[in-house]
Amino acid sequence: MICKYERLPGQRWCAEEAWGTSAYCVLHTDFPEDTASEAFQALSQLKTAKLNERIAKNNYDFTGVVLREIDFSDRKISYGLCFEGAVIKGDAIFNDVEIGDARFYNAQILGNTHFYKAKVRRGIDFRNTKLGGNFLFESIPAETDGSVNFEGAEVGGDVSLSFAKIKGDIWFKSAVIGGSLFCTAVKVVHDAFLYNATIKGSIFFNAATIWGELVLSEAKIGASAWFERAQIGGDVSLYMTKIGGEANFKKTKFWQPDAQEIACRTAKQICERLGDRASADDYYYCEMEAKRKKSLKLLSSSARGLTRSLQADYLHVAYIKEPWRRRKKRARFLIEDLGTFISRSARYLTTLVVEYCFGYGVRFSRLVGTYIIVIVVFGLYYLYNQQTALSFNSLENNGLFSFFTIIAPGYGISSIKPWIPEASVAVEAAFGAFLWAALIAIFVKKYMR
Ligand SMILES: [Zn+2]
Repeated sequence: MICKYERLPGQRWCAEEAWGTSAYCVLHTDFPEDTASEAFQALSQLKTAKLNERIAKNNYDFTGVVLREIDFSDRKISYGLCFEGAVIKGDAIFNDVEIGDARFYNAQILGNTHFYKAKVRRGIDFRNTKLGGNFLFESIPAETDGSVNFEGAEVGGDVSLSFAKIKGDIWFKSAVIGGSLFCTAVKVVHDAFLYNATIKGSIFFNAATIWGELVLSEAKIGASAWFERAQIGGDVSLYMTKIGGEANFKKTKFWQPDAQEIACRTAKQICERLGDRASADDYYYCEMEAKRKKSLKLLSSSARGLTRSLQADYLHVAYIKEPWRRRKKRARFLIEDLGTFISRSARYLTTLVVEYCFGYGVRFSRLVGTYIIVIVVFGLYYLYNQQTALSFNSLENNGLFSFFTIIAPGYGISSIKPWIPEASVAVEAAFGAFLWAALIAIFVKKYMR
């Protein structure tokens, strides 16, 4: 009788003879309940023999097999390994292997799964698997040209991809991880896709590099999300993401300003909820910086638009005789473009000043720096334009004069000669009035809530 194993309902897969009274062959027969029984020992010996026989024949198709534990460490197999729908009652160890691919779709592994330092050429497919223990695919030179796919998988322990090089995606859509997800210093050429995933512990992407997108929409993370010093090339989506602890994006580099804005805003909101005001201020700064970068993008696009329409106008005026009406229309477009360009540059310059001189009201040191620079610059100006009534001739005296002018607007006016120096003193006094307001605003925001 032939083994009755079906890969899918109605799809016979196995050509082996059935074993003893079982309807299945040796590899497809499930173990008896009692692990101490003789039948259990006998079956397990037969299974080992059968497994070695298959390996000797370079047959790595283990679809649907039931085994106690497996250890393929240090093997170099040019083929793929297929354990689709298999049940492994213990650990599955593949340390230091070099294999074509690892297909475990729908499999069950009760123990741990280790691909420590493994090289898997075409990807790791763990979709819909149920893993009782931890999953490791980590440490240099662990790498794959394909993806690591855990869509719909359930993992009892931790998943670690730390230091691995993954040329495809990290795909954890709708996966459930009982422990934490460790992706420290991982390199992912495509996306990190954790849509609707549930992670009871934390996720660690410290020092990771993700060239593509980071998708955490609708994910539930029990503890914290760490992205310290990570680099993210694509967009970040955090729509409806639930994070129990903190979201750490400190020193994270974003290649897209949009991604920076979204990530920092989320992290800021979480910090505010947790009452960590200092970090919330830092994230606020990053969010505003992202907005400034975005407005630079807008500005450069409108500059390009303006150049294009100027070129077109030049061509038309120089070479093509147009009716007057069309020319008027063209001129109107040009004026519109010019208007957009001017308003966008004004906005950009304002944010630039607010960022570098005032640090968006959260960097106190920026404001102090601005004070010092303005005092020194005006002090030097007064020194080399000896026109104040008091005949100052040293930098200290002029610096002091500059200092009093800025902190007490009106002080300088009483002691100066006509009118170019008067104007410069007035400018400094105006600066001073403005800086006072900023100083008070920052002070109130930081310490008086
Ligand atoms: Zn079979």
